Amino acid sequence: MMDATHDQNLKCWVASANGHDQFPIQNLPIGIFQPGVLAEGLLTGDAKVAASAASGDALNPLLALGGRFRLALRRRISELLSDADAEAHLRKVVHTARDCVLHLPADIGDYTDFYAGIHHATAVGTLFRPDAPLLPNYKHLPVAYHGRASSIRASGVTVRRPRGQLKMPEAPGPVFEPTRRLDFELELGMWVGPGSELGVPVPIGQAREHIAGYCLLNDWSARDVQTWEYQPLGPFLAKNFMTTISPWIVTAEALEPFRIQQPPRPSGDPRPLPHLWDESDQARGAVDLDLEVRLRTETMRRSGREPERITAANSQSLYWTAAQMLAHHTSGGCDLRAGDLFGSGTISNAGGGSGSLLELSKGGTDPIVLSNGERRTFLLDGDEIIIKARAHRPGFASIGFGECRGIVAAS
Ligand code: MN
Repeated sequence: MMDATHDQNLKCWVASANGHDQFPIQNLPIGIFQPGVLAEGLLTGDAKVAASAASGDALNPLLALGGRFRLALRRRISELLSDADAEAHLRKVVHTARDCVLHLPADIGDYTDFYAGIHHATAVGTLFRPDAPLLPNYKHLPVAYHGRASSIRASGVTVRRPRGQLKMPEAPGPVFEPTRRLDFELELGMWVGPGSELGVPVPIGQAREHIAGYCLLNDWSARDVQTWEYQPLGPFLAKNFMTTISPWIVTAEALEPFRIQQPPRPSGDPRPLPHLWDESDQARGAVDLDLEVRLRTETMRRSGREPERITAANSQSLYWTAAQMLAHHTSGGCDLRAGDLFGSGTISNAGGGSGSLLELSKGGTDPIVLSNGERRTFLLDGDEIIIKARAHRPGFASIGFGECRGIVAAS
């Protein structure tokens, strides 16, 4: 549902917000930062309930309330920030972003990483199984694994190169050493709003009501550790050393203008079973986001060079919608809790725009070349990865997510 909060002509009395390329008044993301404040007396009803739920150390209570409360809060904050008469009351609770430390927005109880980027799955599958890149289940269910919530960090936290078991193809056995194949994965994060009950699947038609918002996610990966450890139970230490997310939750309401039809399945692809298929979800369940990854090496940083864009992709490359992922997750009876986090899986475009170095360097055989002549197959110590994304559509203010940033430190 779109309303006055999406009006592209809406102006904010915080002058720097007008025309902001990420966070104009039409975005209004929610997050946790210091110093924390709650404006007294300006909020009533559902908006006040929502603001109270958002004033603790984590946003789980707000996420648990659901869409009606997020919407009330969004509408009231939008009114207050665009009303010049409110400025005098609110000036003292408005802070400059660069003066604030942003934390993880929620206590993340569980983190699940999907594999819905079909061009990534196809490209990586081709490296290992040229004749059958996608496994037979891929188009019938959104493949995923249970990730590790404890090692998720907000943008800006250094990622330490993990040590792990590596086994070179020609070696008789493994060694325990720092990974030589540290990679990033460009992903979209999805925040679970209201949870669900154990043993009660969320019907696909209601699944969207359980998605509160989105963030950017870098699923750092140690490819050599992954190659040796992953069979038969999937990723473990190759992924669990750290995951970085952007700290603002861009709400489902803010993204409403950028909802689009899920790209139709190519002819010949199977139609999923009924519990994973909903016509209205197919009609409006995808979101149109342009994502990009920038790299800045230690050498670039020392010479004052800006981060260089190494890849870009669009979220329409996701083969499954967020609602399908959520419905599948609960279809066997698994319960969800407010503040759980999903990763979409690496997002790569068809024929380029690869969301990982594994793809960009063709399995480590073909280095990318940066404009200063440096080459990379995988990440070196001192490399910094920055993920950004933007949503735009004619007639609406463009919005963004901020940054998902991390620098690699030696092990
Ligand atoms: Mn991943």
